[in-house]
Amino acid sequence: MTSNSLYPQAETIEQLRQNIDAVRQRIDQACTKAGRDPLEVRLLPVSKTHPAQYLRQAYAAGCRMFGENKVQEAYQKWQELDDLDNLKWCVIGHLQTNKAKYVARFASEFHALDSLRLAQALNQRLEIENRDLDVLIQINTSGEKSKYGIAPEQAAKLITQLEAFPRLHIRGLMTLAINSDDTEQVRSCFIKLRELRDQLKKIAPPKMQLTELSMGMSGDFELAIEEGATIVRIGQAIFGTREQPDSYYWPK
Ligand SMILES: *Cc1c(COP(=O)(O)O)cnc(C)c1O
Repeated sequence: MTSNSLYPQAETIEQLRQNIDAVRQRIDQACTKAGRDPLEVRLLPVSKTHPAQYLRQAYAAGCRMFGENKVQEAYQKWQELDDLDNLKWCVIGHLQTNKAKYVARFASEFHALDSLRLAQALNQRLEIENRDLDVLIQINTSGEKSKYGIAPEQAAKLITQLEAFPRLHIRGLMTLAINSDDTEQVRSCFIKLRELRDQLKKIAPPKMQLTELSMGMSGDFELAIEEGATIVRIGQAIFGTREQPDSYYWPK
């Protein structure tokens, strides 16, 4: 993962459009190379750290969903941008149970489910809001202590327990690969997620369609696509290098 490389800042709607197009083209090329249909891979723009005013420009450039790591940051932007039609929000970072109410109020997707307690809290809050949520379970595929997500071995048990929560629509799995320059180590995280998803499909309740694999970021998305990603979460390659270090978003 090229975490130190510099991505140019996109400042105008036109530059944003160009960056989005360029990333989309790279996605399509990676699909072609892997013998996959480009329509199978969704680009999720990750807008964390960028102010709502800037997201307005990204909306003008065509974005209709934003991924945000921290729920309160996302919630605030949702409030500021509530005049924009058909704009959806996806929370991709670890969530404390006591903040489930925020996600329930405005998000349409959540990629970081990592406990039964959190599932319970989300379902309860969604009932109150009369809303539903598409959910991915976050798996710690690298085994690093610093990474959120459940261990792969715990996933089967959690999946069977999630049937009890009708407001949660479990769509698949999410992971963050190891942050390493060793391509094969990064790839092995993506393979692990895909293989786990394939195993879980066999034991999942019939209504649960585990189609989604949310994996790949600016530095490693082509590799993720080769290994089956259906959603790539891209921030810096669209918006430019972030000033905040990654440790602000997940512990080191
Ligand atoms: C920030 C973030 C991304 C995007 O990372 P970039 O390097 O900006 O592409 C993807 N997933 C999660 C969980 C993130 O917090």
